[in-house]
Amino acid sequence: MAPNSSCCQHRMLLAVWLTLLVLHGHVLVGAAQSSSKLSDQLLKRYLSNEELVAWMDEFTHKCSHMSRKYSIGKSAGGAELWVLELSDKPGQQEAEPHFKYVGNMHGNEPSGRMLLPQFAEWVCANYKSNDDARRLVDKMHTHLLVTMNPDGFAARKRENGNNVDLNRNFPDPVELKGSAEKMKQPLPNAQPETIAMMKWTLDTPFVASANLHEGAIVANYPFDGYADHSERLTGKRHPAPDDAAFQFLAKLYAKKHSFMAKSQEFRDGITNGAQWYPVYGGMQDWNYLAGRCLAITLELSQSKWRPEGELPSLWQENREALLALPLAAGLGGISGTVVSAGDGSPLPATVMLDGIAWNTSARMPAGYFNRPAAPGSYTLRIVHPGYQPASAAVTVPEDGSGVVANFQLARAGDKNSSSIRGASSSRQGGRSSFTVTPLTKAAAERDRQQKQNMATAILGLLFCICGAMALLHVCNGQRPRQRLYNRVGHVTE
Ligand SMILES: [Zn+2]
Repeated sequence: MAPNSSCCQHRMLLAVWLTLLVLHGHVLVGAAQSSSKLSDQLLKRYLSNEELVAWMDEFTHKCSHMSRKYSIGKSAGGAELWVLELSDKPGQQEAEPHFKYVGNMHGNEPSGRMLLPQFAEWVCANYKSNDDARRLVDKMHTHLLVTMNPDGFAARKRENGNNVDLNRNFPDPVELKGSAEKMKQPLPNAQPETIAMMKWTLDTPFVASANLHEGAIVANYPFDGYADHSERLTGKRHPAPDDAAFQFLAKLYAKKHSFMAKSQEFRDGITNGAQWYPVYGGMQDWNYLAGRCLAITLELSQSKWRPEGELPSLWQENREALLALPLAAGLGGISGTVVSAGDGSPLPATVMLDGIAWNTSARMPAGYFNRPAAPGSYTLRIVHPGYQPASAAVTVPEDGSGVVANFQLARAGDKNSSSIRGASSSRQGGRSSFTVTPLTKAAAERDRQQKQNMATAILGLLFCICGAMALLHVCNGQRPRQRLYNRVGHVTE
């Protein structure tokens, strides 16, 4: 019995020891696996292009209920330009706004390629506990192009693989005399990254976007160039028709950033692009005039390529602002649908705000429109051929909840006039006021007259610009284009 009992005890001890060994091994492997997760590396170092793609795969696997990965084309060097979309119904068409963030357009300004992935991680981790994270996912579609210039990043240079500055490679509204149709055609020297960005912007109903750069701390808004194509640093503003909305969005980012609004150089931490230094062929003005998307440019670091040890503080500086901007642009303005009063079919009607010479349209298939707007009162006007026009006085509330106005347009000649169906704030508890003003005959005539006056004014303006350009040409001959430098001596935007 004794030898057998001892043998039994030995076997038991061996079994316990083996079990412990296996468990310990599991723990070790588990620890090794968790530390090799790329999401844990985002605030520690700049991931390579290959690692960024792997991170996106990791993310779309982990947060599959609110994300998808898709490509918009390839870089000059053949790298895929991957986008991460955040939404509860990614890839599906919904009556919701689309917003885009673009990082790393300049290869040597890599903060965006770290901030945007970290932003996605934050949204996924806080979806259940944070109202704003949930609104972002449930009520809109946010698209993150984490790097627009992977080749430039790999070579640690501003330009793309063909040595072209992508932020001077877009069709220019001044040279094309503001023709939206001409601006939709890429330039002869258009780079693959530019062509991909143009197609993506024209194919997706983006309402707003922001482009992340380095070299200063400021939120920059349109226009970037002057109407006479001047490259002189005059310090004069060249406001866009939506100047109030642009200033509102830029100020919001600056205010939500840890210290941008306290800038010594820029009042409120914002600047009109041309007022700072004129840029032609940039992405910002093109987005607004050709893409019908309100774009701003964010300069997030005084020095380019911040040391990796500073990545956590760069994230903390921008975390709140990165969340606030898409919500304000997408959900804080004026939105709604336009349908036919007869059969309820959606209409791609033109959507105008009185006093703002920039239109957008309701998008099919839902007839949904969305215009970012600063808090205040507006007259919204809806026009579609064959239908009676409609207008409504709307008030965009201060609390970011936006105002929703749904229109039913009566056919021209119908006894019943066009009407508004339902009007509310996009968020419960939001304050917004709303009154319907169907257009009377006199008002319609006034409307026609106003449009005629505006057309005459635009023609006059074009005439002046052409005259000024011809005069400049005669005076200066073939003036060589200057390189543009900002006050600290290097190109940022
Ligand atoms: Zn830049």
